[in-house]
Amino acid sequence: MRTYQGKGVYGAIAIGRISVFKRQDAKVRRTHVDDASQEIARVEAAKELATQQLQEIYEKALKEVGETHAQIFEVHMMMLEDDDYNDSIRNLIETQSVNAEYAVATTADNFSEMFASMDDAYMQARAADVKDISNRLIACLGGAGNAKDKQTEKMIVCADDLAPSETVSLDKDLVMAFVTAYGSSNSHTAILARNMNIPAVIGVGEEFLKAIADGMQIIVDGYTGEIILEPDEDTVAKMSKKQQDDLRKKALLQELKGKENVTLDGTKVQIFANIGGVSGVGAVLANDAGGIGLFRSEFLYLESEDYPSEEEQFLAYRKVLESMAGKKVIIRTLDIGADKQIDYFKLDKEENPALGFRAIRICLTRPEIFKTQLRALYRASAYGKLGIMFPMITSVSEVKKILEICEEVKAQLREAGVPFDEKAEVGIMIETPAAAVISDLLAPLVNFFSVGTNDLTQYTLAIDRQNAKLEPFCDTHHEAILRLIKMAADNAHQHGAWIGICGELAADTSLTETFLRMGIDELSVSAPFVLPLRDTVRKLDLSK
Ligand code: PEP
Ligand code: MG
Repeated sequence: MRTYQGKGVYGAIAIGRISVFKRQDAKVRRTHVDDASQEIARVEAAKELATQQLQEIYEKALKEVGETHAQIFEVHMMMLEDDDYNDSIRNLIETQSVNAEYAVATTADNFSEMFASMDDAYMQARAADVKDISNRLIACLGGAGNAKDKQTEKMIVCADDLAPSETVSLDKDLVMAFVTAYGSSNSHTAILARNMNIPAVIGVGEEFLKAIADGMQIIVDGYTGEIILEPDEDTVAKMSKKQQDDLRKKALLQELKGKENVTLDGTKVQIFANIGGVSGVGAVLANDAGGIGLFRSEFLYLESEDYPSEEEQFLAYRKVLESMAGKKVIIRTLDIGADKQIDYFKLDKEENPALGFRAIRICLTRPEIFKTQLRALYRASAYGKLGIMFPMITSVSEVKKILEICEEVKAQLREAGVPFDEKAEVGIMIETPAAAVISDLLAPLVNFFSVGTNDLTQYTLAIDRQNAKLEPFCDTHHEAILRLIKMAADNAHQHGAWIGICGELAADTSLTETFLRMGIDELSVSAPFVLPLRDTVRKLDLSK
């Protein structure tokens, strides 16, 4: 038995077996082969297996996300059969006497570069597809992905670190907990773990990585951040009891469903939930949130192989709005860049990505992407109570430009006779110190503010939210942050706007009283935090 200490980012306990996270694009080694025909036969067998897997994924996607999203897997199956692609693999094996894996990887590099250099945006996006099918083929060559090897049991995923795109690609039904050697508690991976309602511990350290292997027993305590590898019987018994007590306590909170978010002295606050996609709505409803305070729309883009079309986006937004049946849904426009990178956006590498080309800066520079999303959003507004929110605001001119583009999109829809909600609210995120400081100038322009404390903390304290080493310096209760929030709240109210908080700090119950005293109107948290927050609110007395 060995113990390791990390930082718990979602309080819950898991006892299970390890699945070491494997990155798909592991480096392929070049080896010499004597028998080319045997190597070509291996490629053929791997292709058959890959096609079988793609067919299964296609059928699953068809059922779960519909024809439009499923189509990409049909395209992948066709690409696997492409003559040029297959000739290239065969030629490399025959003329260079190289192993099948190397021939596939080299073909993938050549083809993806060729696609990437084309003028046509559709063809450029195919570069990622070639890489994807080739990675699958390489995995199949190694026997990976064989139906017999497929994980069917819930496991505890252990990794060095997980990028947001890697986290979303995991099968949520098969992940019991996360443990990462690196990572910080404000990272999107940590946020996703909270949204998924599973215990997660990050920053456990490098030694842990060296000690683990697939199938080892492990206990994850998301409350204390403690990790126990190969626990003895007594420890398993003690932690199972802690787990049961925890589940009982959480079950008691269920009694708060249907109750108001009101303090003992009668102050009311809205408690909403954050989601990253359509699939998050179930947890929002199950936890009785009053609405959705932040739909991180960029996850639609992250889960996609190419720019999601207006229609695809419209269907996703409409589904969320319809499911929420008239409750408020705040959808944030694309916040890509920094830690959320997407190949098909082809963003340049930057020295300081968090201070770089991200979010609204991309949207204002590439208005065609922005307008597509806005059209989808306004069309969806006819199906519920939509609020549209813009991220990373720093200036009045940005907001004026955004509003101009919104008016342009609305005018086009009006002219085309497409129904939309003329009263759909628009709001901005207060997540830069600049936005908080000029909130008196911004408030008259919008209906609401929503404070993104994750970035506001990063930019106010000059602490990279991705850097685990800085955790000891990251005082999330820093007076500077609280003053900026108070300033934004006062300015919002003075100009008739409402203000919410949608960053992770909204779930910190040690600050709930402070936020309510500031007059914060809405707190939006990961769905599993809705009821604990309601519990806290109902025990507060602000008259004292
Ligand atoms: C924030 O910055 O607090 C926020 C809610 O946005 P994100 O975490 O997605 O950057
Ligand atoms: Mg942010």
